[in-house]
Amino acid sequence: MTLTEKILARAAGKDRVQAGDNIWVKADVLMTHDVCGPGTIGVFKREFGKTAKVWDKKRIVIIPDHYIFTSDSKSNRNVDILRDFVKEQGLPYFYDVIDDPDGTWKFDASKGLLNRQYGSRYAGVCHTALPQKGHTRPGEILFGTDSHTCMAGAFNEFATGIGNTDAGFVMGTGKLLIKVPETMHFRLEGKMQPGVMAKDIILHCIGEIGFDGATYRALQFDGEGVKSMSIDDRMTVANMAIEAGGKNGIFEFDARTQEYVDARCQLNGTKATYEPVTRDKDEKFVYEHVVDLSKLEPTVACHPDPGQRKKAKDMGDVKLDRAYVGSCTGGKTSDFIEFAKILRGKKVVIDTFGVPATPEIVHELQTARWDDKTVWQILVDAGVRMTENAGCSACLGGPVDTFGRINQAGLKCISATNRNFPGRMGDKESQVFLASPATVAASALTGFITDPREYLS
Ligand code: SF4
Repeated sequence: MTLTEKILARAAGKDRVQAGDNIWVKADVLMTHDVCGPGTIGVFKREFGKTAKVWDKKRIVIIPDHYIFTSDSKSNRNVDILRDFVKEQGLPYFYDVIDDPDGTWKFDASKGLLNRQYGSRYAGVCHTALPQKGHTRPGEILFGTDSHTCMAGAFNEFATGIGNTDAGFVMGTGKLLIKVPETMHFRLEGKMQPGVMAKDIILHCIGEIGFDGATYRALQFDGEGVKSMSIDDRMTVANMAIEAGGKNGIFEFDARTQEYVDARCQLNGTKATYEPVTRDKDEKFVYEHVVDLSKLEPTVACHPDPGQRKKAKDMGDVKLDRAYVGSCTGGKTSDFIEFAKILRGKKVVIDTFGVPATPEIVHELQTARWDDKTVWQILVDAGVRMTENAGCSACLGGPVDTFGRINQAGLKCISATNRNFPGRMGDKESQVFLASPATVAASALTGFITDPREYLS
């Protein structure tokens, strides 16, 4: 069996499963957020009754992150609906925007979009926050009401996005009927060269198969090349499995996974036991592709979908209006470090926005120093508009007052985010080019799509 099949078989209480089997699996964790949480709660109450209790309080994680820093009252109200439900059910894992459990959330526009407006429990973008808060464990099943839930496959678990109806059912029963996906195999060899990042790996893979090339399939990433990839790198790759239509993305378990997961579970007091899955000799794949990481070059996914692959060095004639670094995929500490390495001591020439994924990342960037300056200050001095309000922000457009949202037709934006279908970051007539934070940085310095290797010293 493949890694995905082994996890699903175990969760179904079976010795073996194969692609195409329909099986009931037990969920280990259900995650929801401010956009889908209220709908999921509505389904749960409708189907199980107004006074029903969730199947397991400790296995539900609620992380508001999407439409938070906006004056849109309906969006603010969604966070209050989550808080009411958490109180009613006594759920321990709710990463609220505010500290007062009896309060209401209201964004204060008069304070501006850059300065922190959240309390001590707020965790930021759900997929980045889940591992930071100790909710991702090897061998487990994670369901989340968000398509990029597949990011947790970096930790050797089966993680996938589900709709509100399925999530309402999981909330009541802890189970879900799913079809076992076929597995596509991506064997990674070699080591990435300077200027190349994990984003380039996944943009390369999606470019090979197209934005629907993995529809309802598992993407398994393994091989020698994985050893040199950090946990952040693996998260970036697994996150974008869905951009090829994948059901999930999954990595092998190794010492690096163990070190990260153990530290995070201990830090947060979450469940610390888990059982990883390892590779079998009889794995059956429907597709095989070998990626030599040493040969990859900075890559861009062009408008209008993540499968439109080109090399950054061939796109120097594309004039840009703005640059954006942020999101679950591209807003991690390591992403901002690579971004800052290129921008240090220079000035951007187009509007450039930086949105860390989580408050922990904000803290790291504001405390990590290179000589006399923090990474945060280096970016601000380079002309980047850095916000402390960690969250999804303009990655998916959002209400019109969202930080970094593209509100004008025709603008071209290079972005470290993960999705570029028309209208994704705002105006339907805008264009988004997906790239690594290093490529975004180099492009922000020239105003044209630029290969970051031009700036390597
Ligand atoms: S940052 Fe973007 S991709 Fe990630 S969860 Fe938020 S909206 Fe989705």
